[in-house]
Amino acid sequence: MNKKIYERPILRKVVEGMPNKFGSMKRIRPINTIDNVLIDDIIDSYGSPVFILSEKTIRDTYKSAYRAFSNRYPKVQFAWSYKTNYLDAVCRIFHSEGSWAEVVSGFEYEKALANHVPCNKIIFNGPDKSKNDLVKAIQNKSLIHIDHFDELYTIIQLTDELNERPQVAIRVNMDTGIYPQWDRFGFNYENGEAWNAINRILTNSKIDLIGLHTHIGTYITVSKAYAIAIEKLASLANKTFERFKTTIKYIDVGGGFASQNTLQGAYLPATDTTPSFDDYAHAITTALTSVNFPNNEVPTLILETGRALIDEAGWLAGTVLANKRLADGHRAMVLDVGVNIMFTAFWYDYEIHPVNESSFQSEPTTMYGPLCMNIDVIRKNIDFPLLNKDDRFVIKRVGAYTMTQWMQFITYRPNVVLIDEKGKLHLIRKGEDKEVFRKQEIVPKHLLEKAELKN
Ligand SMILES: *Cc1c(COP(=O)(O)O)cnc(C)c1O
Repeated sequence: MNKKIYERPILRKVVEGMPNKFGSMKRIRPINTIDNVLIDDIIDSYGSPVFILSEKTIRDTYKSAYRAFSNRYPKVQFAWSYKTNYLDAVCRIFHSEGSWAEVVSGFEYEKALANHVPCNKIIFNGPDKSKNDLVKAIQNKSLIHIDHFDELYTIIQLTDELNERPQVAIRVNMDTGIYPQWDRFGFNYENGEAWNAINRILTNSKIDLIGLHTHIGTYITVSKAYAIAIEKLASLANKTFERFKTTIKYIDVGGGFASQNTLQGAYLPATDTTPSFDDYAHAITTALTSVNFPNNEVPTLILETGRALIDEAGWLAGTVLANKRLADGHRAMVLDVGVNIMFTAFWYDYEIHPVNESSFQSEPTTMYGPLCMNIDVIRKNIDFPLLNKDDRFVIKRVGAYTMTQWMQFITYRPNVVLIDEKGKLHLIRKGEDKEVFRKQEIVPKHLLEKAELKN
């Protein structure tokens, strides 16, 4: 155990954390371990900054989500949203729990195949499927979720050429009371476009329409919106049966559940306001079970939950580079973690903790990243303990979208490690170095010679 740093006793006025109607504000306490592994040890072995994922948290979160739905509805299937975090180790954990794959590009499709997901358990979403992608997906009998009429026409043409029966669903967008409405993906419900698409598919006798899909948005805190989506998809399913005698096998409500990260400008912390898996499950399954489906055959409920399944399992540990005062005297801290690897810092107020016991005093502080860019702000005006240069901190709930939306800008992307359920560390993505970039870049021959700087 580390010896605590001695601090001379002080008398202090209790001003920090003035009580308000929610009680008194809590001092930000150190977090020095993740799953009983010392964060200091992780940084010492894998460098700073470093992303850390907890296999235990991933599995526990998945199990509680699955339980919330399967306790209430007989046929439930999750499909892991690759774009939320497509590190192979992460995907394979979800697959080993029973999750299918949900992909939105040829790249992600290839990744799912390489992770040994059976082809008919890969859902291919998104507006960007090349003709080659579609050929592969049709031949593999993957589930193609059609986004627009041009894609439908390509599929119809390929059906004739390939002599295969594509397995398709359509993506439907609709008014669920969530605004702005995401109407750029799929076919609209209210104006009849979705029904037209269904008609176009089923008048072609060679395509199997097996599902209906929607994804109403992300960070949806109103569980009732999903109930509205279910009602609308169910009415399409029943109309489809009446007109074509085709049974829709699954209803896929997409992702969008909120995580416990607090949005900037939110009045209360998300840990107090985000609906639980049980809340979402209750709204969704109540809507589903109140529908009379043809022949009482209930469709499988597919969920493409991303953010809410992985955010909690991700951590980012880093080091303080410097402290300084802004022109107006406000305290500023420079961290080795920037928005290049924390794109999501633009809309979340991340929870940040010192790794070790530090000064008892705190002061409103703005945390900047290391980039030479004014917008590189990780946290604005947080009442934070005074850390020194080289002290370490850890950021909570960074599992979703950070490790896919990060960009290589100014500096390398760092190592990612996984703590397995026995507390053993595994490097699951190597940090970049100059060799990575040397491999990608090609210098034209006429620029190869040793550059002579012109005076
Ligand atoms: C991004 C995405 C998801 C996952 O969304 P979350 O908000 O992370 O749950 C699911 N389905 C589709 C089609 C998506 O584009």
